[in-house]
Amino acid sequence: MRMLSTRMKNLDPYKPGEQPRDRDYIKLNANENPYPPAPSVVEAAARFLRESPQKLGLYPDPDANEVKELLAELLNKTGGVLSKNQPFEGGFKVTPDMIYMGNGSDEVLSFVFYAFFDSDKKLVRPEHSYSFYPVYCGFYNIPSDVVPLKGDWSLDIDEMIFRANKNHSSTIFANPNAPTSLGLSREQIRAWMRRAPKDRVFVVDEAYVDFGGETVIPLLAEFKNLVVVRTFSKSLCGAGLRCGYIVANPELVQAVTTVKNSLNHFPLDAFAQKFALETCKAYDYYVDCAKKICEERDSFIEFLRERSWNVLQSQTNFVFCQKNGVDGKAFYQALKEKGFLVRRFDTKGIERHLRITIGTPEQMAALKAAFI
Ligand SMILES: *Cc1c(COP(=O)(O)O)cnc(C)c1O
Repeated sequence: MRMLSTRMKNLDPYKPGEQPRDRDYIKLNANENPYPPAPSVVEAAARFLRESPQKLGLYPDPDANEVKELLAELLNKTGGVLSKNQPFEGGFKVTPDMIYMGNGSDEVLSFVFYAFFDSDKKLVRPEHSYSFYPVYCGFYNIPSDVVPLKGDWSLDIDEMIFRANKNHSSTIFANPNAPTSLGLSREQIRAWMRRAPKDRVFVVDEAYVDFGGETVIPLLAEFKNLVVVRTFSKSLCGAGLRCGYIVANPELVQAVTTVKNSLNHFPLDAFAQKFALETCKAYDYYVDCAKKICEERDSFIEFLRERSWNVLQSQTNFVFCQKNGVDGKAFYQALKEKGFLVRRFDTKGIERHLRITIGTPEQMAALKAAFI
């Protein structure tokens, strides 16, 4: 079409897990949480609509300040990880000015890319990681230096450090990583960051950290270039409400806020802010959900191994698996016909794998019955 801008013609959009409406599938393809938000959150949201409808007619707080305050408290109480649920070591504390709140971490990531990555510097990132990273590189015209994973699917840290130093580059990866489900310890990342450029932003996407990962938030005391990206979509049962955030030093938070104020002044609507606030208060419920999901995951991994599937030891709410002699695409299709949606990829190197989100015990029992 001749009306399109050159910019538009070069876009290569993200392809999300499918959301078919032809049938009620058991949806295990987008790493959503199978549990609803806490009852107290649902009740407070309903009360908010009933008792303060006028708030929906007013602009919300553009910076979600109240949410940031409660979120800082939540992070400090749980040590940044629900499954850990004790304060940070060494008295480290997150303050509200270290938090930026946005409309899902996808939007937050796009602002991070805009604020910190340039078109004359290659961004170092791992080959198999969150597939939105290459999409934003295309959108903002940021070149990438893509580093293959090692044979055991772990990140090739030495190579990523080497490339970052060679071109004086920024780095981004997910920890734990998707779709591999593997995580690095905080000490591994500390050692990594000590050897990487200190004046380039280093982004760690912790979307899955609450399912058994280690957070790098306390490393903010040592590294001014660290940006930690987090979301309410996975462990906080809120994918439909679109709340994401970063934790970083206040100067970097300010930079992302400037991008936000140049694009979308009010990324979090009034209802989402109410939801996020109440979610922070109900954290006990989410600690419990994460625990149930981790137990279910470990039992599913055992189940798969008994049936000769190769499964990585997941630190997330999904498993990444493959079985010799099983065609991933055909098996995905067979599961779909039985009413289960799981995720598969056309990407070279992982075409034979499936990524399966952990559901409720009932959903997983049904899935097991459909397995080979
Ligand atoms: C799910 C996911 C996100 C996106 O989360 P939203 O907050 O729903 O936009 C970001 N990063 C990774 C690695 C994810 O898996």
